[in-house]
Amino acid sequence: MDHSARTMLGDKASKSHLTVNTNGGEKPHVWSSSEGGCQIDIGKQIFCNRSLNMKNIIAVGFDMDYTLAQYKPETFESLAYEGTIRKLVYNLGYPQELLEWTFDWKYMVRGLVLDKKRGNILKMDRHKYVKVAYHGFKELSKEDKVGTYGNTLIQDSFDEPDYALIDTLFSLAEAYLFAQLVDFRDNNPGKVPQGTDYSRMYKDVRAAVDLCHRDGTLKQMVAKNPKRYINEDTSIVPMLKMLRASGRSTFLVTNSLWDYTNIVMNFLCASRTSDGGITCNFDWLQYFDVVITGSAKPGFFHEGKHANIFEVETESGMLLNTDNGTPMPQVGNTSPKVLLKGLNKSCRVFQGGSVGHLHKLLSIESSSQVLYVGDHIYGDILRSKKVLGWRTMLVVPELEREVELLWELRDMRKQLRLLRNERDLVEDQIHHLKWALKFESLRNDEKQKMTSAVGELESHRDQVRLAHQQAQWECHQKFHKIWGQLMKTGYQNSHFAHQMGLTMA
Ligand code: IMP
Ligand code: MG
Repeated sequence: MDHSARTMLGDKASKSHLTVNTNGGEKPHVWSSSEGGCQIDIGKQIFCNRSLNMKNIIAVGFDMDYTLAQYKPETFESLAYEGTIRKLVYNLGYPQELLEWTFDWKYMVRGLVLDKKRGNILKMDRHKYVKVAYHGFKELSKEDKVGTYGNTLIQDSFDEPDYALIDTLFSLAEAYLFAQLVDFRDNNPGKVPQGTDYSRMYKDVRAAVDLCHRDGTLKQMVAKNPKRYINEDTSIVPMLKMLRASGRSTFLVTNSLWDYTNIVMNFLCASRTSDGGITCNFDWLQYFDVVITGSAKPGFFHEGKHANIFEVETESGMLLNTDNGTPMPQVGNTSPKVLLKGLNKSCRVFQGGSVGHLHKLLSIESSSQVLYVGDHIYGDILRSKKVLGWRTMLVVPELEREVELLWELRDMRKQLRLLRNERDLVEDQIHHLKWALKFESLRNDEKQKMTSAVGELESHRDQVRLAHQQAQWECHQKFHKIWGQLMKTGYQNSHFAHQMGLTMA
């Protein structure tokens, strides 16, 4: 879970009101509560796009993967990358030389869009205007970019099935591999399986990644050594304790299944032995009222969805039928103890079901009483927020570095603003002069003077425009050498930032 989200819940949830910071990335002078006043590291401050009265929240829920559990991309995503390549080679007939490829885990970022048919990777602004475009790892010329995407503003939604949005950190490896395969196919057309176009390659990569998540390729390795793949986070337990002490219910809704959830949550919540080891037990369940595994989000958030909910017998992992969450004695069962035990436990663990079951289990009367913290705009936030009316919090770990950089680059950004103002001013002057030349009755000498002034201003405008463009690109490159700032595309908000705004407004 990112620090800002944790700080908000951990330090402030007992206070009643969270205030909105509206000064757009400048060093905030308003703190996270009206009482506030303490200095907090810039990367750990809280930024809200609306106020939330925590008094109304009676249950706080969490997603697990990439929310509470922050994976280390250099090891975890590399594992996904290597597993995917092995599947492409051994199951799908791709050439052996792929096994030698390496993964640059810093190359791809969230918010990019893959154009599956053309083999392109795009960064768009909030109007879905393509601002950066690569074919594989080769940048498209401005002409190619405009030629391909310039006219698609209205018709093209940049959605599935022709496009894929990289909106979870789980997708960074597959996006990188797609770019590598596009390059590979361009340079070695005969080496990919016959008839494999870019879309087919994307499909193959997707299927291979999917299998890695499902067949244990990733999870077995994480289970063997969670520390290698997941960041330790000692503030999760205090945060959960604080929420519970404030009288709120806490719950977990994850798409991971019970066996894996138990390993990851143990790693995050268990107390360490003196040698740093972890005893695997179920103690972490004391921090939750309800745990739902295998939740199949976003479908889980459909209120009317009919989905069976099973109780998980934690020791054996056995699934037990329930009557909509209520334990159900099995006919002829010789040990109803297992079922009744469920009722006495402080935390009950389930698999499947839907939001209606969860509301019933937690006695939630109105969905606005629930705050849910997740990392996936589409899977965790969009439906729960828009359709259901839960309050939501999106975890964006990338923001910590981004906000720090905004602060470090404040002088450069000020310079950019000045250049932009100057450009606007000159354009305004040109416009006025041209207007006068067209519509006012002027003497010849006046006309001549104005025409030459327009010429001078236009060349000045071109200089300023160029300087502004260069300065803007330099500034963007400080964030990421290829894709620039996560939340911006040039001067505009990025598509990713726009989606974040939509989901959280
Ligand atoms: P959550 O974020 O806690 O809901 O869990 C996400 C789960 O989805 C984890 O178990 C991931 O391994 C799994 N997952 C992520 N990407 C994929 C995929 O592409 N296919 C199948 N499972 C996935
Ligand atoms: Mg997640």
